[in-house]
Amino acid sequence: MNPRVLFWIPALLRLSVILLGSIVMGWMFGLIAGLTMSFLSMLALLLIQLSYLYQLGEWLDKPNSEGLPDGWGSWTAIFARLYRLRRDDERNQAELTEWLARFRQAMHLLPDGVAIMDDVLFLEWCNPAAERHLGLTMARDKGMRVTNLIRHPDFIDYIILGRYEQPLTLRLRDRKLICQIIPFENRRQILVTHDITEMDRIEEMRRDFIANASHELRTPLTVIVGFLEIASSDMPLDSATRAAHLKLMTEQGHRMQRLIEDMLTLSRLESADYPLRAERVAIGALVEEVLQEARALSGGKHEITAVVDGPDVRGSHEELRSAFANLASNAVRYTPVGGQVQLRWESGHDAGKGGDGPRFVVSDTGIGIDQSHIARLTERFYRVDKSRSRETQGTGLGLAIVKHVLLRHGGSLAIRSEPGKGSSFIAALPASSVV
Ligand code: ADP
Repeated sequence: MNPRVLFWIPALLRLSVILLGSIVMGWMFGLIAGLTMSFLSMLALLLIQLSYLYQLGEWLDKPNSEGLPDGWGSWTAIFARLYRLRRDDERNQAELTEWLARFRQAMHLLPDGVAIMDDVLFLEWCNPAAERHLGLTMARDKGMRVTNLIRHPDFIDYIILGRYEQPLTLRLRDRKLICQIIPFENRRQILVTHDITEMDRIEEMRRDFIANASHELRTPLTVIVGFLEIASSDMPLDSATRAAHLKLMTEQGHRMQRLIEDMLTLSRLESADYPLRAERVAIGALVEEVLQEARALSGGKHEITAVVDGPDVRGSHEELRSAFANLASNAVRYTPVGGQVQLRWESGHDAGKGGDGPRFVVSDTGIGIDQSHIARLTERFYRVDKSRSRETQGTGLGLAIVKHVLLRHGGSLAIRSEPGKGSSFIAALPASSVV
């Protein structure tokens, strides 16, 4: 039924009852009694209304769905409607709080920075990624103009030009960021930041690698092409010169072959599609293999010994052989004639009980390495002395291969060296690799 009818009918009925009661009273006991009866009834009705009005006022101060009285007469319907309103409001509020919490959590987890600003670029809110990227602190910087917070000339120019459809690449505090401003809601703008530092570093490494690899391949190729041109020209060559040219071409050809093989090995080791094929590696036989290879390379010019005093491990025989052989070959190549090279397989302390794992140590009495170079030795194509590396058939990729093999096995490489005295390369494997 219509709520208005529901409200008015009982109210009019109540008034009619009072009026009727007063008329009956007046008729039975005289006019004064009738009027008194009507006055008292109206007063009682007024007091009831005032009491509910007071309760309503109290409730409005602290509105909650529990604190509402049941009411009487028309108040019952009013309180029931207020109760429903309040309950819907509470439900909406709970939904809104939940959405807000979810939104906050998503914004916290977002790797991209989001900063909300008003139309004149005063910061209203930003997520933790934006704080990290732009060096902001919400608590401190809220309400400040972003051009005062991000004082980079490129950023200021971007704002001045206002070509927001184009993103801006910004170098800010060791980071490379892609920033873009997106206007929204008429009087607000969002600043979005995307950190591309790591991507940029990888891209730079890739560019460097291609440049280095091309350079490394170009040198032997230039030699080969040069000799081929001489051979195909009319220049008269005696057989000794021709033989010398052929020997040099073969050497350069081998150098290119070694380079390409090392590059392929590295790319395979780095590839996620090339999982480690772990097997039991018989260390005694592996060290013996490496020892024989080192002796063959030295050609009797060094004193090379090997000691095996440790357990077998699980890993890739081929990869470990390649890593250990690289270390042994370096020791031979960077140790002058008559020097000593020692290969040692040692078990770590408490191997197998979570302590140090076993390690392959290669010590030489060679030329040593200055401390300033040590951190960079495992970078591709990094050499302390380029000509010595080339003379001894180095590719500059050996230690990069060693590092990757050890990484794949959960191990690490440590280097100790003193110029003029010698070096020790320690290839440590994790204790968990022990069979
Ligand atoms: P390379 O093919 O040039 O030997 P590596 O990656 O194996 O490349 O080694 C990088 C550089 O580290 C070498 O060029 C050399 O300068 C230095 N190096 C490696 N091993 C030794 C060593 N045992 N003694 C001295 N220097 C070494």
